[in-house]
Parts: sequence; C-alpha cells; structure tokens
Amino acid sequence: MNRLTTDQLRRMLLYSARVIVENEPYLTKIDTIIGDGDHGIGMKRGFTALEEMLSTTAFENPAQLFRATGIELVKTMGGASGVIFGTLFIGGLEHLTDSNGVTAAQLAAFFDAGQQAIQKRGKAKPGQKTMLDALAPAVEAMEKSAAESDDIKALLEAASLAAQAGAAHSSTLRSRTGRSKNFHEATIGHPDPGAISTSLIFKAFSDFLYGEETDESPSTNIPLHRLEI
Ligand code: ADP
Ligand code: MG
Repeated sequence: MNRLTTDQLRRMLLYSARVIVENEPYLTKIDTIIGDGDHGIGMKRGFTALEEMLSTTAFENPAQLFRATGIELVKTMGGASGVIFGTLFIGGLEHLTDSNGVTAAQLAAFFDAGQQAIQKRGKAKPGQKTMLDALAPAVEAMEKSAAESDDIKALLEAASLAAQAGAAHSSTLRSRTGRSKNFHEATIGHPDPGAISTSLIFKAFSDFLYGEETDESPSTNIPLHRLEI
C-alpha cells in the first residue's frame, strides 16, 4: 500500500473519530485522576462533530480534508486540547502537495510538522507528560519507516505501536505542563489523557488500513478498541 486516496483518508479519519468517541469514558476517567476531568468530554464533542462533518462533506484533496478536520476540532472542542489536536492536522499541510492522495513520506513529513507546530504553540516538549509523549515517538517511528519503505500500512503500524508505548511510558512521568502540573507527584503512575488519545488515533489509523487491505468493510466491521494501560 504505497498511496492513500483522499476518500481512504476521509474514512480513516472517520474511523478514528468513532474510536475516540467510543473511548470517552476511559479518557474521562484518566483526566479525572490527574486533570479537571474534561478531556474525554472535549474529545467526544470534537470527534462527534468531526464524524458528522466527514460524513456530509466532499473533499477534493488531502490538504483540504485535513484542514477541515483540524478546523472542526478547534472550533468544537475548546480547551487546551482543541488547539493541540486541531494543530496536529493543520500544522503540516504544506507537505500534502499531491491533489490525489498521500505517500508514506508525505504522511511522515505531515505529522512531523504537526508535532513541531504543537510544540511551538503549546511551548511544551516531550518528557513533560503531554500528548507529545505519544506523538514524538510516533513521528520518529514514521520517519524511520518512511526511510526504509514506501508502505503506508507499515508506517502507521509503526506509529501506532510507538504511540502506545509512549502513552504507557507517560505513566512514569511527572507532569510539567498544563492543568495536570498542579497534581505534582500524584501524576506519576497514571498515563497522560492526551497521550492516550493520541495513541488511540494512530491505532485507529493502523487498524483501519488492515481492514482496507483485507477488504472487510473497514469503516463498520472493525471492532472498536479500548486501550487499557
Ligand atoms: P485542559 O487542559 O484545557 O483541561 P484537556 O483536558 O482536554 O484540556 O486536555 C488535556 C491534555 O492536553 C493533556 O493530557 C495533554 O496531553 C494535552 N496538553 C495540555 N497542554 C499541552 C501543551 N502545552 N502541549 C501539548 N499537549 C498539551
Ligand atoms: Mg482537562
């Protein structure tokens, strides 16, 4: 699989939105322990709106699709994470130059630029117990994968595994930024909610591509995953 069409990307995003909405109770539970408890609600609100938007809009190219995705999230989610997750899909648009689809190298560059934009905007770095602790390893894994092969399924599987490992590792970190900073040492032993959301998004992307390849009506037939770390 060396190319994803705009419609495949749209259905991939749609699937990830369903996974996020499905996992709202878990996200809420984690943010209740180390935050103000609104992360799951905000994500559910944003990704429900995203599902609606993606189901009812036609997109001409990947850049238009991802721009609309990011804008929808910023518009509907609010809070720190609205801007953060919106920026994930807007920060690297200049790398989506092809009007018909994306390659593995383009996707890797897109998410790398998204990460850089998030860091510029939120002034956080990996290691401070944020979603960057899942995103940074995912981006690194994508760059490595893209350098070795043009297979997008391998790219997103590598991203998914690295993001899940990063989210699990975030449990060992003490929060240095955002609202959870106020919980000091009590944040150790619990994963960062935004890192879990990030790992769910990349896991959904990867699972979706497995469905595409096996032709199992991926947008409906793949069981939704609940990630317990
Ligand atoms: P809020 O902090 O406004 O209550 P949420 O609870 O929805 O927003 O989201 C919290 C998540 O946002 C955190 O778990 C963290 O992953 C992410 N986050 C917060 N601040 C930053 C930042 N400066 N950079 C990157 N991610 C951040
Ligand atoms: Mg919160």
